Amino acid sequence: MRTAILNGTLVSAAETLPYDLYFDQGSILGAVPRGDQRFGPPEMSIDATGKYVLPGGVDVHTHLDLPMGAFNASDDYATGTLAAAHGGTTTIIDFVNHARGESLLKNVEAWHQKAAGRAVIDYGFHMTVAEASPQVMAELPAVVKSGISSVKVFFAYPERLLLDDPSVFRVMQRAADLGALVLVHAEDGPPLDILVEQARGRGEWAPINHALTRPEVAEATGTERAIALAEMAHAPVYIVHVSCARALTRIVEGKSRGLTVWGETCPQYLCLSEDDLRGTPEDPFAGAKFVCTPPLRPKIHQEALWRGLAQGHLDTVATDHCPFNYVGQKDRGRNDFTKIPNGLPGIETRLHLLYEAVTQGKLSLERMVEVAATAPAKIFGLYPKKGSLLAGADADLVIWDPIRPVTLNAQSLHMRVDYSTYEGRTVPGSPMQVYSRGELLIDRGCAKAAPGRGRFLARAPA
Ligand SMILES: [Zn+2]
Repeated sequence: MRTAILNGTLVSAAETLPYDLYFDQGSILGAVPRGDQRFGPPEMSIDATGKYVLPGGVDVHTHLDLPMGAFNASDDYATGTLAAAHGGTTTIIDFVNHARGESLLKNVEAWHQKAAGRAVIDYGFHMTVAEASPQVMAELPAVVKSGISSVKVFFAYPERLLLDDPSVFRVMQRAADLGALVLVHAEDGPPLDILVEQARGRGEWAPINHALTRPEVAEATGTERAIALAEMAHAPVYIVHVSCARALTRIVEGKSRGLTVWGETCPQYLCLSEDDLRGTPEDPFAGAKFVCTPPLRPKIHQEALWRGLAQGHLDTVATDHCPFNYVGQKDRGRNDFTKIPNGLPGIETRLHLLYEAVTQGKLSLERMVEVAATAPAKIFGLYPKKGSLLAGADADLVIWDPIRPVTLNAQSLHMRVDYSTYEGRTVPGSPMQVYSRGELLIDRGCAKAAPGRGRFLARAPA
């Protein structure tokens, strides 16, 4: 049905225009000056007076249904992607898990099973690589060929995920050959594990010790090493969840030398701080709700990250959505911070928090669209189908109401988790309507979408 969004203000990464937008059969026909009838009379029209029309959000860092020890992250593909849609995100890229000794391709198949019949929005996958074994290296071409053109490696978690430098280097070289992008979790993990053991030895069990045993310097040196290895491998590199000023400085250095280095940060590093890990006077353990890795940093880092984002030193904002319930999951670590599952809910609130920052003058509206939709789509091979309002793009759209405040809390949000890290925070704007391929998913907070309509996005190598 030829549909027009009339009288709104279109916002792309490049400009803001008082244009009407037409779409049909799931694709954008084009944007025209108000009243221009070049696409013929619409069969349906939506009045967007006083609203912004944005490309649907693209969140390239999520962990739905991720197995973590005794349980899985609390959102699965049905609940997690619906929550994403409620927040104006219409595309995700989720991480396929991998454990040493396992086949990559078997894990990819398992992830397709998790998503099929459940996803509400379109989704792609990144491949996690927990070792550079002959089998893993042999399977990489088939993984890339199946539409997964990005690979994640870890400098942290020696027991489960860490790759040593020669292994990372070989993966980077191979990925570059295949046209795949390598993502790095850049915390230098082994010394951190020693700090953790020493803290336990001293009987320091509270959640704040999670932050105190993972200092900023470990992320800074890991970021530098990731960039150096990528430079030697002649490979581009994407640093996930940059949490602190010193790691950001390493990215700025790499970029200034002309290297292809991208930096991602997350709302939790922009909006929350180490203080949250101290909990409340009534419940000091409530800090467990804020345990994620890298840890939340002292407040002073927020300003550096916002500035880096505004200036183009950081390229994307993704969520690292990996929720665990406070009761029954996070509280497994009540007597030992190392037993608190790492991860926060966030897939639904990314645009809310970025828009709040726009109203505070930290970011322009165009830059918000760029970091939340256009740049991630470009970096991960989804542009211009996703992350744009161009003719021919998928009609993934958010009609954003700048004066529809919402108070964020576990009840009002749709993520399947029993708390919010932003409990009680009122943000100034929220989505009025959210479309995916021209289909209305969310209308004034009501879900209209059926699970299973989301499609796998096979991404071509670069
Ligand atoms: Zn993650």
